[in-house]
Amino acid sequence: MTTTLPLPAPPAPTDTPDPSAVAAAARDAVKTYGSGDAAVHALDGVSVDFSRGRFTAIMGPSGSGKSTLMQNVAGLDTLTSGSVSIGGVELSSLSDRQLTRLRRDRIGFIFQSFNLVPTLTAKENIELPLDLAGRQPDQAWFDELVSTVDLGSRLGHRPAELSGGQQQRVAVARALVSRPEIVFGDEPTGNLDSRAGGEVLAFLRDAVDRLGQTVVMVTHDPGAASYADRIVFLADGRIVDEMTDPTADRVLDRMKRFGH
Ligand code: ADP
Repeated sequence: MTTTLPLPAPPAPTDTPDPSAVAAAARDAVKTYGSGDAAVHALDGVSVDFSRGRFTAIMGPSGSGKSTLMQNVAGLDTLTSGSVSIGGVELSSLSDRQLTRLRRDRIGFIFQSFNLVPTLTAKENIELPLDLAGRQPDQAWFDELVSTVDLGSRLGHRPAELSGGQQQRVAVARALVSRPEIVFGDEPTGNLDSRAGGEVLAFLRDAVDRLGQTVVMVTHDPGAASYADRIVFLADGRIVDEMTDPTADRVLDRMKRFGH
């Protein structure tokens, strides 16, 4: 199977900021579980750039390596070989403590299962990453986030008192509150009905368009993927295709052609 590798980005001019700068990248990423005949190549040589200020979806059949790619680019796991970088920082060059700090300060996560702290209010959950980092919230930014996720009247409520869509919007605000370099979502709308999922996706889209946020999202849902600027398709641990400016119909069509 041939692997379609993206062309390297042209060198950035030194005097002007490069809007297409890379927020995160993987180079020749290999992740192998087990050994010998039992070896599973979850990633089999993946090179990909995630551009700053863009929304990228990662798609592919179950077991194709989507979660493994995301976990490794996010520094939650380590590759068998190859490299990943966040904001130009090679993760393998960091000590455990530096990696923990980079994850805390420069990466936001949104999981399928919301992962909110049940005993904290919505407001406290949103502020948690800042509390852990010993940082004060930027009040203007906090207010903008809260009004954008439309949670103003629910801030004093605990997760159990919120709908699934509201809980995930709290999780999205929490992921964005520290203005991370990049936000990773692993099926962030997987537990939501289509209306609530649409609200969360529209918010992520807005964060990219208005705030220049970088988002990388794993999804199997063509409708969710259509919110992205670009889709990277994985199969058997390799990138096999890409699509820019996707629509749900084009994604569905592509999935039908490839039999998944
Ligand atoms: P996807 O997210 O596309 O469903 P994954 O990245 O979860 O795929 O998995 C890719 C492959 O790696 C699968 O064959 C899976 O069984 C295997 N795999 C993932 N995690 C582990 C693990 N901890 N131990 C062994 N095999 C694993």
